[in-house]
Amino acid sequence: MQRAVYPGSFDPITYGHLDIIRRASEVFDEVIVLIMNNDEKKGTFDMQERLDMVENVIRDFDNVSVTIGDGLTVEMARKLGANILIRGIRAVTDYEYEMQLATANMILADEVHTVFLVAKPEYSFLSSSTAKSIAKCHGDIRAFVPEYVEQKLKEKYRG
Ligand code: ADP
Repeated sequence: MQRAVYPGSFDPITYGHLDIIRRASEVFDEVIVLIMNNDEKKGTFDMQERLDMVENVIRDFDNVSVTIGDGLTVEMARKLGANILIRGIRAVTDYEYEMQLATANMILADEVHTVFLVAKPEYSFLSSSTAKSIAKCHGDIRAFVPEYVEQKLKEKYRG
């Protein structure tokens, strides 16, 4: 049984993340979306809000679940019984950072393998920050995030 973890901030989850989740769910038996708490990076949404949004948008996948974690990602993966970390690559700009992360994780835990999945071209420009910047200016974000997340962003930036 191949269990994979997909770690990230998901602040909030976008269609780009969701596309990676769908691909991962087709490759691995089980996928756990791991929302990592980063004390140095104060998020827009708190961890419970992010969890609620992910739970809502992964409902259609029967082999995908979500949980919250902190500390080292590889330690979280070990605790969850997973030896695969999924990361998404949008463009070459992601590559350097992701290589550093994957190499550090490999040194920390050699049995945990990082697998990169490539973003769909239409989502290759898309990040949580882009969606938030547009939502802040009350722009149309329907192409970027699922409806439930759109509502939550609207509530956040209302007024
Ligand atoms: P982090 O703060 O760990 O980068 P993110 O939530 O921003 O967390 O992203 C989690 C992972 O998903 C990263 O590997 C990132 O490259 C990937 N990702 C983010 N947006 C997209 C997208 N639009 N398409 C594909 N992968 C993406």
